[in-house]
Amino acid sequence: MQTQACQDLDRAHHLHPFTDFKALGEQGSRVITHAQGVYVHDSEGHRILDGMAGLWCVNLGYGRRELVEAAAVQMTELPYYNTFFNTTHPPVARLAEKLCALAPPHINHVFFTGSGSEANDTVLRMVRRYWALKGKPEKQWIIGRENGYHGSTVAGMSLGGMAPMHDQGGPCVPGITHVRQPYWFGEGQDQSPEAFGRACAAALEEKILELGEDKVAAFIAEPVQGAGGAIMPPASYWPAVKAVLAKYDILLIADEVICGFGRLGAWFGSQHFGLAPDLMPIAKGLSSGYLPIGGVLVGDRVADTLIEEGGEFCHGFTYSGHPTCAAVALKNLELLEAEGIVERVRDDLGPYLAERWAELGDHPLVGEARSLGLMGALELIDPATEERFDKALSAGNLCRDICFATGLVMRSVGDTMIIAPPLVITRDEIDELVCLARQALNETARRLADQRVA
Ligand code: PMP
Repeated sequence: MQTQACQDLDRAHHLHPFTDFKALGEQGSRVITHAQGVYVHDSEGHRILDGMAGLWCVNLGYGRRELVEAAAVQMTELPYYNTFFNTTHPPVARLAEKLCALAPPHINHVFFTGSGSEANDTVLRMVRRYWALKGKPEKQWIIGRENGYHGSTVAGMSLGGMAPMHDQGGPCVPGITHVRQPYWFGEGQDQSPEAFGRACAAALEEKILELGEDKVAAFIAEPVQGAGGAIMPPASYWPAVKAVLAKYDILLIADEVICGFGRLGAWFGSQHFGLAPDLMPIAKGLSSGYLPIGGVLVGDRVADTLIEEGGEFCHGFTYSGHPTCAAVALKNLELLEAEGIVERVRDDLGPYLAERWAELGDHPLVGEARSLGLMGALELIDPATEERFDKALSAGNLCRDICFATGLVMRSVGDTMIIAPPLVITRDEIDELVCLARQALNETARRLADQRVA
């Protein structure tokens, strides 16, 4: 199909997620037609290095025949069956076992969903059910973080701390509140990173005391905030948060939808930071995005209560434990494991990206270059003032569009540029990524300077 024909159909009938429909209608969509390895190809014949692994999910890269075959075999045998009404099937049972083997030892159960948002809806209900079964139904409040992202369903967006989402389609789910994020570059530069990390944990404690410790059920956070801007917390943050939660007997929900399955060089971000969360929502890298599947890894404390106390947990989805999605996810985990991909991110590719990415810190437009595992961010600043650009300039979006035209997918969150490439990227491809990013920064600087003169 020709580019124009596809764009016309799209414009006429397709409403895209997180999109200004009018603006997109005027501009026209980019048409992606196929992909291989770490590259996607568009309908105009361009090859683009996918620095975002789709939407933080194609961990194994594109074009893996093994995943296609796993889907074909399962679709032939049993394309769909539900897991309601005391029924199971081999792929879901095997996947549950595999996930529990990879997760920290205190996690031995999984509840499956179709997406990360559904995983967080599940978490909300499960946490409140847990405390009700424990005879503490007044423990209802869940504390999230400003600028955290936990999905786009009503519960997901309520748990998240994205103000523009709260402003549309509210009201949010009651009993959810937010505390400050550990975003040192954006909000903490008047202190050392260590002091700032401790201050953020202290803000959590203050909020708990304000609500009443016997009223707080759980704290939800991403080990590293992804959609908020690849925000890596100062080293002091997680140990201090863990201590606060233990002090007041509050559950920890570590949203692993992005950090899970190798992104930070450990199977789960929680393992990287030494967390022992009670619940871990997962999705994305679970199937490397080849099919939609998510879930919640449930720690023994919660699972044992739900199981031993009995009574129906009135929650679940048609596609909870979908056999074909489960078969593909299982094969994906087997390949990640057999090919040593998580260890390679930890020992080789993560450190290599850190070294090469840090070089971009010398660019006049870059106020900070940070990375962890295969996730990275560049904070754009105005070289004239060393402060953020005027928002009206949309420097981040300009840089993102230039990147795309240069042959690199890099996402912008305000004026923070972020990457999270497939975990199968090679050192040579990392070199290419950094080189393309630098070219795009140069061009962005040039265009912004031109705008000023004009
Ligand atoms: N949690 C986190 C941390 C996420 O990054 C996302 C998606 N970006 C979600 C939840 C929601 O997942 P989904 O889009 O699959 O519903």
